[in-house]
Amino acid sequence: VPRTPESCDVVVIGGGQAGLAAGYYLRRAGLDYVILDAQSRPGGAWGHGWNSLRLFSPAEYSPLPGWGMPRQEGEGFPTSDHVVDYLRAYEQRYDLPLRRPVRVQAVRPAGERLAVQTTASSWLARYVISATGTWECPYLPDIPERHDFAGRQLHTVDYTSPEEFRGQRAVIVDGGNSAAQILAEVSRVADTTWVTLRPPRLMPDDVDGRVLFGVATRHAAQDGVAGGGVAGLGDIVMVPSVRDARDRDVLHAQPMFQRLTTHGIAWPDGTEQPCDAVVWCTGFRPNLTHLEPLGLPRHDGVVATAGTRSVDEPRLYLLGYGDWTGPASATLVGAGRTAKATVADIATRISAQATP
Ligand code: FAD
Repeated sequence: VPRTPESCDVVVIGGGQAGLAAGYYLRRAGLDYVILDAQSRPGGAWGHGWNSLRLFSPAEYSPLPGWGMPRQEGEGFPTSDHVVDYLRAYEQRYDLPLRRPVRVQAVRPAGERLAVQTTASSWLARYVISATGTWECPYLPDIPERHDFAGRQLHTVDYTSPEEFRGQRAVIVDGGNSAAQILAEVSRVADTTWVTLRPPRLMPDDVDGRVLFGVATRHAAQDGVAGGGVAGLGDIVMVPSVRDARDRDVLHAQPMFQRLTTHGIAWPDGTEQPCDAVVWCTGFRPNLTHLEPLGLPRHDGVVATAGTRSVDEPRLYLLGYGDWTGPASATLVGAGRTAKATVADIATRISAQATP
Protein backbone atom coordinates (compact mmCIF):
# COMPACT_ATOMS: atom_id res chain seq x y z
CA VAL A 1 0.00 0.00 0.00
CA PRO A 2 1.67 3.29 -1.06
CA ARG A 3 2.21 5.58 1.89
CA THR A 4 1.32 9.28 1.85
CA PRO A 5 4.38 11.25 0.78
CA GLU A 6 6.25 13.10 3.50
CA SER A 7 6.92 16.80 2.93
CA CYS A 8 10.01 18.88 3.59
CA ASP A 9 11.90 21.90 2.28
CA VAL A 10 14.86 20.00 0.89
CA VAL A 11 15.64 16.37 0.08
CA VAL A 12 19.35 15.63 -0.26
CA ILE A 13 20.05 12.51 -2.31
CA GLY A 14 23.30 10.82 -1.30
CA GLY A 15 25.06 10.67 2.07
CA GLY A 16 28.72 10.87 1.01
CA GLN A 17 30.93 13.85 1.75
CA ALA A 18 28.95 16.18 -0.55
CA GLY A 19 25.58 15.24 1.00
CA LEU A 20 26.95 15.73 4.52
CA ALA A 21 28.39 19.16 3.66
CA ALA A 22 24.93 20.14 2.38
CA GLY A 23 23.39 18.77 5.58
CA TYR A 24 25.66 20.93 7.72
CA TYR A 25 24.53 24.16 6.05
CA LEU A 26 20.86 23.12 5.83
CA ARG A 27 20.89 22.49 9.56
CA ARG A 28 22.48 25.89 10.22
CA ALA A 29 19.88 27.56 8.00
CA GLY A 30 17.12 25.94 10.08
CA LEU A 31 15.53 24.28 7.06
CA ASP A 32 13.42 21.16 7.21
CA TYR A 33 15.38 18.50 5.32
CA VAL A 34 16.37 14.87 5.08
CA ILE A 35 19.39 13.04 3.57
CA LEU A 36 18.57 9.80 1.76
CA ASP A 37 21.50 7.43 1.22
CA ALA A 38 21.45 4.14 -0.66
CA GLN A 39 24.25 2.62 1.43
CA SER A 40 23.62 0.90 4.73
CA ARG A 41 26.69 2.53 6.30
CA PRO A 42 28.36 5.94 6.28
CA GLY A 43 31.32 6.99 4.10
CA GLY A 44 30.02 7.12 0.52
CA ALA A 45 32.68 6.09 -2.00
CA TRP A 46 35.42 6.14 0.64
CA GLY A 47 34.13 2.78 1.89
CA HIS A 48 34.83 1.17 -1.49
CA GLY A 49 38.30 2.21 -2.64
CA TRP A 50 41.21 -0.21 -2.89
CA ASN A 51 43.00 -1.26 0.31
CA SER A 52 45.93 1.15 0.08
CA LEU A 53 43.93 4.25 -0.98
CA ARG A 54 44.87 7.37 0.97
CA LEU A 55 44.13 11.07 0.92
CA PHE A 56 46.50 13.18 -1.16
CA SER A 57 47.21 15.45 1.78
CA PRO A 58 47.38 15.57 5.59
CA ALA A 59 44.05 15.48 7.44
CA GLU A 60 43.96 19.21 8.19
CA TYR A 61 43.77 20.00 4.46
CA SER A 62 40.52 18.09 3.99
CA PRO A 63 37.95 19.60 6.35
CA LEU A 64 34.22 19.45 5.90
CA PRO A 65 32.56 22.62 7.23
CA GLY A 66 32.44 23.16 10.98
CA TRP A 67 34.66 20.35 12.18
CA GLY A 68 37.89 19.29 10.51
CA MET A 69 39.19 15.78 10.08
CA PRO A 70 41.23 14.67 13.12
CA ARG A 71 44.77 13.50 12.45
CA GLN A 72 45.25 9.78 12.06
CA GLU A 73 47.74 8.56 14.59
CA GLY A 74 50.98 7.42 12.99
CA GLU A 75 49.88 8.34 9.45
CA GLY A 76 50.85 11.50 7.59
CA PHE A 77 48.23 11.00 4.86
CA PRO A 78 45.03 9.42 6.20
CA THR A 79 43.76 6.05 4.97
CA SER A 80 40.30 5.70 3.44
CA ASP A 81 39.14 3.88 6.62
CA HIS A 82 40.06 6.98 8.57
CA VAL A 83 38.00 9.13 6.19
CA VAL A 84 35.02 6.80 6.67
CA ASP A 85 35.41 7.07 10.47
CA TYR A 86 35.51 10.85 10.13
CA LEU A 87 32.36 10.97 8.00
CA ARG A 88 30.55 8.68 10.46
CA ALA A 89 31.56 10.87 13.40
CA TYR A 90 30.60 14.00 11.44
CA GLU A 91 27.06 12.73 10.89
CA GLN A 92 26.73 12.01 14.59
CA ARG A 93 28.28 15.28 15.73
CA TYR A 94 25.75 17.36 13.80
CA ASP A 95 22.93 14.85 14.25
CA LEU A 96 22.30 14.88 10.51
CA PRO A 97 18.95 13.34 9.49
CA LEU A 98 20.28 10.40 7.44
CA ARG A 99 17.90 7.70 6.25
CA ARG A 100 19.62 4.44 5.25
CA PRO A 101 19.49 2.37 3.22
CA VAL A 102 17.11 4.38 1.04
CA ARG A 103 17.68 4.50 -2.71
CA VAL A 104 16.00 7.25 -4.69
CA GLN A 105 14.50 5.75 -7.80
CA ALA A 106 13.00 8.81 -9.46
CA VAL A 107 12.59 12.57 -9.13
CA ARG A 108 9.58 14.07 -10.92
CA PRO A 109 7.83 17.42 -11.05
CA ALA A 110 4.69 17.46 -8.86
CA GLY A 111 3.02 20.86 -9.11
CA GLU A 112 5.09 23.36 -7.17
CA ARG A 113 7.22 20.63 -5.65
CA LEU A 114 9.46 17.82 -6.72
CA ALA A 115 8.31 14.27 -5.92
CA VAL A 116 11.10 11.99 -4.76
CA GLN A 117 10.26 8.32 -5.07
CA THR A 118 12.42 5.92 -3.06
CA THR A 119 12.67 2.25 -2.19
CA ALA A 120 11.19 3.07 1.23
CA SER A 121 8.70 5.94 0.91
CA SER A 122 8.17 9.08 -1.11
CA TRP A 123 8.80 12.73 -0.43
CA LEU A 124 7.54 16.06 -1.69
CA ALA A 125 10.29 18.66 -1.58
CA ARG A 126 10.54 22.31 -2.51
CA TYR A 127 14.14 21.73 -3.55
CA VAL A 128 16.27 18.68 -4.24
CA ILE A 129 20.04 18.49 -3.88
CA SER A 130 21.48 15.56 -5.81
CA ALA A 131 24.84 14.39 -4.39
CA THR A 132 25.08 10.82 -5.64
CA GLY A 133 28.73 10.87 -6.74
CA THR A 134 30.23 8.87 -9.56
CA TRP A 135 31.43 5.62 -7.97
CA GLU A 136 28.37 3.62 -9.03
CA CYS A 137 28.87 4.56 -12.70
CA PRO A 138 32.23 3.21 -13.83
CA TYR A 139 33.07 4.09 -17.41
CA LEU A 140 34.50 1.55 -19.86
CA PRO A 141 35.56 2.63 -23.35
CA ASP A 142 34.18 0.81 -26.34
CA ILE A 143 37.09 -1.38 -27.43
CA PRO A 144 36.80 -3.87 -30.29
CA GLU A 145 36.68 -7.54 -29.27
CA ARG A 146 36.57 -6.68 -25.59
CA HIS A 147 34.33 -9.62 -24.85
CA ASP A 148 36.56 -12.10 -26.69
CA PHE A 149 39.34 -11.69 -24.15
CA ALA A 150 39.61 -14.88 -22.08
CA GLY A 151 41.59 -13.28 -19.24
CA ARG A 152 40.30 -11.11 -16.45
CA GLN A 153 38.99 -7.57 -17.00
CA LEU A 154 38.21 -5.30 -14.12
CA HIS A 155 37.54 -1.63 -13.47
CA THR A 156 39.02 0.51 -10.69
CA VAL A 157 35.85 -0.17 -8.66
CA ASP A 158 36.66 -3.91 -8.59
CA TYR A 159 40.32 -3.54 -7.63
CA THR A 160 41.32 -4.22 -4.03
CA SER A 161 45.00 -5.21 -3.81
CA PRO A 162 47.98 -6.20 -5.97
CA GLU A 163 48.14 -9.71 -4.50
CA GLU A 164 45.55 -11.05 -6.93
CA PHE A 165 47.97 -10.31 -9.80
CA ARG A 166 51.09 -11.87 -8.30
CA GLY A 167 53.21 -13.45 -11.01
CA GLN A 168 50.80 -12.41 -13.78
CA ARG A 169 51.03 -10.06 -16.78
CA ALA A 170 48.70 -7.11 -16.24
CA VAL A 171 47.80 -4.21 -18.54
CA ILE A 172 46.76 -1.03 -16.73
CA VAL A 173 44.73 1.39 -18.84
CA ASP A 174 44.59 5.20 -18.61
CA GLY A 175 46.51 8.12 -17.24
CA GLY A 176 44.80 9.35 -14.09
CA ASN A 177 45.63 8.98 -10.42
CA SER A 178 43.85 5.65 -10.02
CA ALA A 179 45.84 4.12 -12.88
CA ALA A 180 49.16 5.48 -11.63
CA GLN A 181 48.58 4.30 -8.07
CA ILE A 182 47.34 0.85 -9.11
CA LEU A 183 50.23 0.47 -11.59
CA ALA A 184 52.67 1.46 -8.85
CA GLU A 185 51.64 -1.34 -6.53
CA VAL A 186 50.80 -4.05 -9.07
CA SER A 187 54.22 -3.56 -10.70
CA ARG A 188 55.85 -4.74 -7.48
CA VAL A 189 54.39 -8.26 -7.86
CA ALA A 190 53.48 -8.57 -11.55
CA ASP A 191 54.77 -7.79 -15.02
CA THR A 192 52.90 -4.57 -15.97
CA THR A 193 52.23 -2.65 -19.17
CA TRP A 194 50.81 0.87 -18.86
CA VAL A 195 48.76 2.28 -21.73
CA THR A 196 47.15 5.70 -21.87
CA LEU A 197 44.87 7.49 -24.30
CA ARG A 198 47.18 10.52 -24.22
CA PRO A 199 50.63 10.95 -22.71
CA PRO A 200 50.35 11.03 -18.90
CA ARG A 201 50.97 14.38 -17.24
CA LEU A 202 52.90 13.93 -14.02
CA MET A 203 52.75 16.76 -11.53
CA PRO A 204 55.96 18.08 -10.00
CA ASP A 205 57.13 15.96 -7.05
CA ASP A 206 56.44 18.67 -4.50
CA VAL A 207 52.78 19.11 -5.49
CA ASP A 208 50.45 17.18 -3.22
CA GLY A 209 46.90 17.83 -2.04
CA ARG A 210 48.10 20.81 0.01
CA VAL A 211 49.25 22.67 -3.08
CA LEU A 212 46.28 21.50 -5.17
CA PHE A 213 43.73 22.72 -2.66
CA GLY A 214 45.57 26.04 -2.40
CA VAL A 215 45.50 26.50 -6.16
CA ALA A 216 41.85 25.43 -6.41
CA THR A 217 40.89 27.83 -3.62
CA ARG A 218 42.69 30.80 -5.17
CA HIS A 219 41.18 29.93 -8.53
CA ALA A 220 37.67 29.70 -7.05
CA ALA A 221 38.13 32.99 -5.24
CA GLN A 222 39.42 34.75 -8.34
CA ASP A 223 36.82 33.98 -10.92
CA GLY A 224 34.82 30.94 -9.95
CA VAL A 225 35.75 29.17 -13.17
CA ALA A 226 35.82 25.43 -12.74
CA GLY A 227 39.03 23.51 -12.27
CA GLY A 228 41.50 25.17 -14.64
CA GLY A 229 43.97 26.17 -11.95
CA VAL A 230 44.58 22.62 -10.76
CA ALA A 231 44.38 21.05 -14.22
CA GLY A 232 47.24 23.31 -15.35
CA LEU A 233 49.60 21.50 -12.96
CA GLY A 234 49.14 18.04 -14.50
CA ASP A 235 46.97 15.00 -13.78
CA ILE A 236 48.98 12.63 -11.62
CA VAL A 237 49.94 13.47 -8.06
CA MET A 238 53.38 12.01 -7.31
CA VAL A 239 52.44 10.24 -4.08
CA PRO A 240 55.26 8.13 -2.55
CA SER A 241 54.19 4.86 -4.25
CA VAL A 242 54.12 6.53 -7.69
CA ARG A 243 57.53 8.17 -7.12
CA ASP A 244 58.85 4.76 -6.14
CA ALA A 245 57.45 3.26 -9.36
CA ARG A 246 59.25 5.93 -11.34
CA ASP A 247 62.48 5.15 -9.48
CA ARG A 248 62.03 1.46 -10.33
CA ASP A 249 61.63 2.53 -13.98
CA VAL A 250 58.14 1.07 -14.48
CA LEU A 251 56.32 4.36 -15.04
CA HIS A 252 56.45 4.22 -18.83
CA ALA A 253 53.20 4.76 -20.70
CA GLN A 254 52.55 3.54 -24.22
CA PRO A 255 49.82 4.80 -26.54
CA MET A 256 46.57 2.84 -26.40
CA PHE A 257 46.40 -0.67 -27.88
CA GLN A 258 44.03 -1.19 -30.77
CA ARG A 259 41.94 -4.16 -29.63
CA LEU A 260 41.79 -7.09 -27.31
CA THR A 261 42.55 -10.59 -28.56
CA THR A 262 41.56 -13.87 -26.94
CA HIS A 263 44.77 -13.95 -24.93
CA GLY A 264 45.96 -10.37 -24.75
CA ILE A 265 46.17 -7.08 -26.61
CA ALA A 266 47.03 -6.09 -30.18
CA TRP A 267 49.04 -2.91 -30.85
CA PRO A 268 48.23 -0.59 -33.78
CA ASP A 269 51.09 -2.17 -35.84
CA GLY A 270 49.39 -5.57 -35.49
CA THR A 271 51.82 -7.04 -32.94
CA GLU A 272 50.07 -9.09 -30.28
CA GLN A 273 51.07 -9.17 -26.62
CA PRO A 274 49.69 -11.83 -24.29
CA CYS A 275 48.40 -10.83 -20.86
CA ASP A 276 46.37 -12.29 -17.99
CA ALA A 277 44.45 -9.22 -16.88
CA VAL A 278 43.36 -5.78 -18.08
CA VAL A 279 42.61 -3.19 -15.42
CA TRP A 280 40.44 -0.37 -16.78
CA CYS A 281 41.13 2.77 -14.74
CA THR A 282 39.04 4.71 -17.20
CA GLY A 283 37.05 6.82 -14.84
CA PHE A 284 33.45 7.43 -13.99
CA ARG A 285 30.35 9.23 -15.13
CA PRO A 286 28.00 11.15 -12.84
CA ASN A 287 25.38 8.92 -11.28
CA LEU A 288 22.19 10.67 -12.43
CA THR A 289 19.83 7.77 -13.22
CA HIS A 290 17.30 8.92 -10.61
CA LEU A 291 16.95 12.24 -12.48
CA GLU A 292 15.99 10.66 -15.80
CA PRO A 293 12.23 11.28 -15.38
CA LEU A 294 13.00 15.02 -15.37
CA GLY A 295 14.18 14.69 -18.96
CA LEU A 296 17.09 17.10 -18.51
CA PRO A 297 19.21 17.46 -21.64
CA ARG A 298 22.71 16.05 -21.15
CA HIS A 299 25.94 17.00 -22.88
CA ASP A 300 28.96 14.73 -22.37
CA GLY A 301 27.02 12.98 -19.61
CA VAL A 302 26.42 16.08 -17.51
CA VAL A 303 23.40 18.37 -17.16
CA ALA A 304 23.62 22.14 -17.60
CA THR A 305 24.20 24.06 -14.37
CA ALA A 306 24.62 27.67 -13.33
CA GLY A 307 26.78 27.26 -10.23
CA THR A 308 25.25 24.13 -8.72
CA ARG A 309 21.70 24.88 -9.89
CA SER A 310 20.20 23.01 -12.81
CA VAL A 311 19.43 25.33 -15.69
CA ASP A 312 16.51 23.23 -16.92
CA GLU A 313 14.95 22.33 -13.52
CA PRO A 314 15.56 25.29 -11.19
CA ARG A 315 14.36 23.36 -8.11
CA LEU A 316 17.26 20.96 -8.54
CA TYR A 317 20.88 21.45 -7.39
CA LEU A 318 23.85 19.15 -8.04
CA LEU A 319 26.74 18.81 -5.59
CA GLY A 320 30.05 16.95 -5.82
CA TYR A 321 30.51 14.98 -9.10
CA GLY A 322 33.35 17.07 -10.59
CA ASP A 323 34.46 20.52 -11.59
CA TRP A 324 31.26 21.11 -13.57
CA THR A 325 29.47 21.65 -10.23
CA GLY A 326 32.15 24.00 -8.87
CA PRO A 327 35.93 24.16 -8.50
CA ALA A 328 37.30 21.02 -6.78
CA SER A 329 33.74 20.12 -5.74
CA ALA A 330 34.56 16.40 -5.73
CA THR A 331 37.07 16.90 -2.92
CA LEU A 332 36.31 17.12 0.79
CA VAL A 333 37.31 20.75 1.08
CA GLY A 334 35.64 21.76 -2.18
CA ALA A 335 32.35 20.05 -1.23
CA GLY A 336 32.02 22.46 1.69
CA ARG A 337 32.43 25.55 -0.46
CA THR A 338 29.86 24.53 -3.04
CA ALA A 339 27.42 23.28 -0.37
CA LYS A 340 27.57 26.65 1.38
CA ALA A 341 26.70 28.58 -1.77
CA THR A 342 23.95 26.09 -2.66
CA VAL A 343 22.20 26.27 0.70
CA ALA A 344 22.50 30.06 0.82
CA ASP A 345 20.74 30.22 -2.53
CA ILE A 346 17.97 27.83 -1.44
CA ALA A 347 17.47 29.63 1.89
CA THR A 348 17.15 32.99 0.11
CA ARG A 349 14.53 31.59 -2.26
CA ILE A 350 12.55 29.95 0.54
CA SER A 351 12.48 33.11 2.63
CA ALA A 352 11.46 35.16 -0.43
CA GLN A 353 8.58 32.70 -1.03
CA ALA A 354 7.53 33.02 2.63
CA THR A 355 7.37 36.83 2.45
CA PRO A 356 3.78 37.87 1.70
P1 FAD B 1 30.11 9.56 -2.92
O1 FAD B 1 31.17 9.48 -1.88
O2 FAD B 1 30.16 8.58 -4.04
O3 FAD B 1 28.70 9.45 -2.18
C1 FAD B 1 27.50 9.34 -2.88
C2 FAD B 1 26.49 8.59 -2.02
O4 FAD B 1 25.25 8.64 -2.68
C3 FAD B 1 26.84 7.13 -1.80
O5 FAD B 1 26.69 6.79 -0.45
C4 FAD B 1 25.80 6.40 -2.68
O6 FAD B 1 25.44 5.15 -2.16
C5 FAD B 1 24.64 7.37 -2.62
N1 FAD B 1 23.71 7.24 -3.75
C6 FAD B 1 23.99 7.05 -5.05
N2 FAD B 1 22.84 6.99 -5.78
C7 FAD B 1 21.83 7.14 -4.91
C8 FAD B 1 20.41 7.17 -5.04
N3 FAD B 1 19.80 7.04 -6.23
N4 FAD B 1 19.66 7.32 -3.92
C9 FAD B 1 20.26 7.47 -2.71
N5 FAD B 1 21.59 7.45 -2.53
C10 FAD B 1 22.38 7.30 -3.61
N6 FAD B 1 39.05 13.45 -2.50
C11 FAD B 1 39.63 14.29 -1.60
O7 FAD B 1 38.97 15.17 -1.06
N7 FAD B 1 40.96 14.17 -1.28
C12 FAD B 1 41.74 13.21 -1.82
O8 FAD B 1 42.92 13.12 -1.49
C13 FAD B 1 41.14 12.32 -2.79
N8 FAD B 1 41.89 11.35 -3.34
C14 FAD B 1 41.34 10.52 -4.23
C15 FAD B 1 42.16 9.57 -4.82
C16 FAD B 1 41.66 8.71 -5.77
C17 FAD B 1 42.59 7.73 -6.42
C18 FAD B 1 40.27 8.78 -6.10
C19 FAD B 1 39.68 7.83 -7.11
C20 FAD B 1 39.43 9.73 -5.49
C21 FAD B 1 39.95 10.62 -4.58
N9 FAD B 1 39.18 11.62 -3.99
C22 FAD B 1 39.76 12.48 -3.10
C23 FAD B 1 37.76 11.84 -4.40
C24 FAD B 1 36.71 11.24 -3.48
O9 FAD B 1 36.96 9.94 -3.11
C25 FAD B 1 35.35 11.22 -4.16
O10 FAD B 1 35.32 12.21 -5.12
C26 FAD B 1 34.23 11.45 -3.13
O11 FAD B 1 34.00 10.27 -2.40
C27 FAD B 1 32.94 11.94 -3.77
O12 FAD B 1 32.03 12.27 -2.74
P2 FAD B 1 30.49 12.43 -3.03
O13 FAD B 1 29.83 12.70 -1.73
O14 FAD B 1 30.29 13.38 -4.13
O15 FAD B 1 30.05 11.00 -3.61
